[in-house]
Amino acid sequence: MKLLAFFESIIVAISCFFGSIFNLPDKNVEKIIENNGGMIYGVCHPNENYEMLGDAGFKWVRFDIPCPYDRSGNVTQAYKDFKERCRGYAEIGFKVMAVTPYPRDYISGMGFNPVENEENIAKTKELAVFLYNDLKDITGAFQITNEMGLVGFMHPLTIEEAALYIGIQLEAISEIKDESFPIGYNSADLIQVSRELHKLMKPYLKYCDYVGIDLYTGVQGKAEAKDYVEKIKKLYRMTGKPIILEEFGFWSEGGPKSAEQKAEILGIYGYSTEAEAIADGANFVNKLPSLFRNTLNLEHPGEESKWAELVFDQYSNHFYGESSAETIENIPHTPDGQAQYFKSVMAELQKCKCLAGMIIYCCQDMGTCWVCGHSWCPFETKWGIFNMDGTPKPAYYAVKEIITGK
Ligand SMILES: [Zn+2]
Repeated sequence: MKLLAFFESIIVAISCFFGSIFNLPDKNVEKIIENNGGMIYGVCHPNENYEMLGDAGFKWVRFDIPCPYDRSGNVTQAYKDFKERCRGYAEIGFKVMAVTPYPRDYISGMGFNPVENEENIAKTKELAVFLYNDLKDITGAFQITNEMGLVGFMHPLTIEEAALYIGIQLEAISEIKDESFPIGYNSADLIQVSRELHKLMKPYLKYCDYVGIDLYTGVQGKAEAKDYVEKIKKLYRMTGKPIILEEFGFWSEGGPKSAEQKAEILGIYGYSTEAEAIADGANFVNKLPSLFRNTLNLEHPGEESKWAELVFDQYSNHFYGESSAETIENIPHTPDGQAQYFKSVMAELQKCKCLAGMIIYCCQDMGTCWVCGHSWCPFETKWGIFNMDGTPKPAYYAVKEIITGK
């Protein structure tokens, strides 16, 4: 039996290798596309402008499942609201790519580490089955948690524990689920920790209908649209599974900041130089938005004495809201540039035969960056194809044209 499985895996590896080189069709990709009535086109963190989302050709939305229970075992209000939201999309014929909770949700919300011991593992499996049964009719697919490998999301699990965490949920759901309900997991690009995750996930791939990837190639740095397809093909060769691009996008604002603009931002905090702010140490750190301090605490716990320095080192881009001048195909971070990005990248993606879906990050701009709490930071604020007031940006129309041809 083991020998048979070994030969099967060799055959899959060979067919994916040649399939990716010659862009050949894959029956598992075709099955997902067929069950869905076409390529999966979706948008993350959707607004409720159902009509415009539908007009753009989206049939999918993607958002997180909150912690379903509190520590006393009562169903949370956030979970009830989540289900209500899913019903709203289901009623208009949309499907939800629902992202199952993060490890931290188990710990802070339900009071247990999901993989700490056999008892907790059994509880985690039970919860995965509950989520599937409770949500299968009002969602459309599950992504088992999100971007494990990245410290901010994986905390406090190790990468080995994170793979186990994903694997046991996939296994539990795969035993009971409907064939047409895809389940999988995703990774942040193919960075080192993600490659490690995919390696650790090998024993669990048999439970996956797809493997997801999030790509922001060329948002900062030189790149070409075809680099997206190259990375997707690489993941396909690594896993032998249909790939879903779970997140991709481009800011409509960004780029380098001038010395005057930086001085102005320092001035908001009451300093004229970075050295002055660093010398003010904890006093300066206390002036930062609480979101910024949360990030420092999460990523550099116990290093309080270095935080002020880190702000102008690792987090300088967030502090000033500054990004690289280099981008994919030299596309500028402007509303029209963002539209050009989607035209260029989606046209390449549509040709890729191992890809079953693409989900745009994200729907609407946000007021403040969740990493640093600054309104002037584009990193987590300017991804939207809608402005903050809900009006469409040029990117909305570009995406609509690519999907619908109109
Ligand atoms: Zn930021």
